[in-house]
Amino acid sequence: MARSVAATSSATSAVPAAGSSPLPAAVAERLLAHVTVAGERDRIDVTAPFTEEVLGSVPSCTAEDVELAVGRARAAQGAWARTPMRDRTAVLRRYHDLVLERQDEVLDLIQLEAGKVRAHAFEEVADVAIVAAYYARTGPGHIAPRRREGALPGLTRTRELRHPKGVVGFIAPWNYPLSMAVTDVLPALLAGNGAVLKPAQTTPFTALWAVELLYEAGLPEGLLQVVTGRGSVLGTPMIDAVDFITFTGSTEVGRSVGEQAGRRLIGCSLELGGKNAMLVLDDADLDDAVRGAVAGCFASAGQLCISIERLFVADAIADGFTERFVAAVEDLVLSPALAYGGELGSLASRSQLETVTRHVDDARAKGATVLTGGGPREDVGPLFYAPTVLTDVTDDMELFGDETFGPVVTISRFRDVDDAIERANDSPYGLNASVWTGDVRRGRDVARRLQVGTVNVNEAYAAAWASVDAPMGGFKDSGLGRRHGREGIQKYTEVQTVAVERFLPVSRIPGLSQDRNARTLTAALKLMHAIPGLRRA
Ligand code: NAP
Ligand code: MG
Repeated sequence: MARSVAATSSATSAVPAAGSSPLPAAVAERLLAHVTVAGERDRIDVTAPFTEEVLGSVPSCTAEDVELAVGRARAAQGAWARTPMRDRTAVLRRYHDLVLERQDEVLDLIQLEAGKVRAHAFEEVADVAIVAAYYARTGPGHIAPRRREGALPGLTRTRELRHPKGVVGFIAPWNYPLSMAVTDVLPALLAGNGAVLKPAQTTPFTALWAVELLYEAGLPEGLLQVVTGRGSVLGTPMIDAVDFITFTGSTEVGRSVGEQAGRRLIGCSLELGGKNAMLVLDDADLDDAVRGAVAGCFASAGQLCISIERLFVADAIADGFTERFVAAVEDLVLSPALAYGGELGSLASRSQLETVTRHVDDARAKGATVLTGGGPREDVGPLFYAPTVLTDVTDDMELFGDETFGPVVTISRFRDVDDAIERANDSPYGLNASVWTGDVRRGRDVARRLQVGTVNVNEAYAAAWASVDAPMGGFKDSGLGRRHGREGIQKYTEVQTVAVERFLPVSRIPGLSQDRNARTLTAALKLMHAIPGLRRA
């Protein structure tokens, strides 16, 4: 059984005695100043998964608040779009530095709100710093005016311009409360947009901290607004008022966001669920693959859209892999401490615990074998679940195709690589995959045949995710659009083509009859086709 450590105290951060909130009231008040409300609102309690105690409460915002927030962001946006690019990138540079300097504050908040171990919370801090630095460096180039081929070589001067969309709406999930609240907002702001963020109900304080720090980094007053409360209440008014919507969350809600955006003819970007597969080929290094599988299956207790829930292992090495993997999983240190040392944290909410419990119980009842784990770990914390490895899984089990979003993974064997690829692709989802092999060329060949947005060879998820110059997103039901790279900032712009014609009109040469004009243009078209270099004149 996986080990656990008690909630140890560290000098700077400790899980306090019951009764006193680990989030000081003064800090909560300060952060709440960043929520846009038009009047008195009902409150929603925010609880800490490690203990289920109340951390504080946030306003249950309304449609009226969304309208006010979008209006304020819009009012600030015009001047921001005219602010020189070097001043805009300076905000992101300062943000990068501040996030790293002040990480201890937010590591506590992430742990408290999401229930993950500190090492997993740190991945979010690193992610935000990486994305801020990346767009500060490359963002201006991705959206700079660009010369394009003109209609007539030498005569038409054509440029592509990128304008900000206006105000972008962001609806974020709870599983990566810092990363998901802010990493998509950064490129949108850099491109000259205003923004309105709706964090998940369960993790608002981390998002508010992230927003506060952006203002400290120099963001102009009002440009980034926050509304807290229920997605089911705030989603529609937000989509109705913004010029683009970025949603990260479940496929079910994502579909509805996409439909509403479609009716308004605004763009949307949807980062949704996954049922990600890892393929361990017969020539993989077993120790590396086991280490990778542990990291890939149990990051943030499996509550990661790109984490691995299906392991496919080549017959020839399946016994050895399984034995070592199960041993490594049993060695994981479960911990609710607000300090480094823990390796597996809590589930983030009671509803997550219910889903995980239901999936595992259903699989067991239908004949799956539990190799390790298989139940809650209330001895560590009320919402902890043991890291669980299942085998003998069949397609009638709920967890066969549905996302569990917990510390649960299934192992299946495969005969040959074609069989493994076919089974990995047999899913409505297509977010991430991982391939382990001693032969990089073989890894790339398998990767190309997997129907997913990112593939990591000899890594679980971090290599592709942290390659922030490359696009990230889902095939099939895993989403629409991409974050990161040039795609991750260009989507927040409206493209405009400006073509300036000199000397001669494109359509009709003055003084020529219609048939002479047609013959002249025919000759010109043939010439341009024969000498492609002319196009660039
Ligand atoms: P969810 O219910 O879809 O919630 C995500 C966000 O949408 C929350 O802020 C939620 O607000 C809001 N929301 C809920 N109902 C809404 C509605 N009708 N209209 C507009 N917004 C609404 O997702 P979840 O189940 O909590 O989160 C886990 C899912 O997110 C998993 O499926 C996971 O794979 C996916 N995810 C994907 C990525 C990615 O990058 N692809 C990253 C992280 C998570 P409330 O908090 O008020 O409900
Ligand atoms: Mg939900």
